[in-house]
Amino acid sequence: MAAEGKTCGGCGACCKLPAIRELSKPAHQTCSNYVTGQGCSIYEQRPGSCRAFECGYLQNPELNDDWRPDRAGFLLYFAPGPRLVVETDLETPDTWRQEPYLSQLREWSNRSRPSPVEVVVRTGDHLTMIFPEGEITLGKDTGRAIVSGYRGVGERRRPFAEFAKPLAWTL
Ligand code: SF4
Ligand code: SF4
Repeated sequence: MAAEGKTCGGCGACCKLPAIRELSKPAHQTCSNYVTGQGCSIYEQRPGSCRAFECGYLQNPELNDDWRPDRAGFLLYFAPGPRLVVETDLETPDTWRQEPYLSQLREWSNRSRPSPVEVVVRTGDHLTMIFPEGEITLGKDTGRAIVSGYRGVGERRRPFAEFAKPLAWTL
């Protein structure tokens, strides 16, 4: 549910960035039903995935208008993991590296938080995992699960993120 006082305004990023299965709309192409300055032209009949979607900016009352996706250049949403996905607009693929974004994303990525999440930047099919210590490039999404966390102890403790190894036959 949208946080009190939050509105989409003239954003429309979720009518461009995600694929919409019911409409066969590819990711990163503006939906043919989207009218600039007006929004969805089939609002009452829009597909279920459009009805169900609310981005992180809309849900989080603490995110100011710098985080509105059309201004930030990316949108936020939660996925199983639990994972916070930073879905970038391919026209502005690096704005998440700027402030105030990067510091906040690194803070959210702190695994010591009460409800830890993986924070993953998705740029097309390219993935990057954020940690407070820095970013780890995962590369092209293989479709396999991602494992991430810390290895080592003391000064040798380091974050890691990698795709799970394919299952091997053990007959
Ligand atoms: S990306 Fe978020 S703020 Fe933008 S239109 Fe969609 S729900 Fe609204
Ligand atoms: S159907 Fe409407 S709400 Fe859904 S992506 Fe297209 S313009 Fe946006």
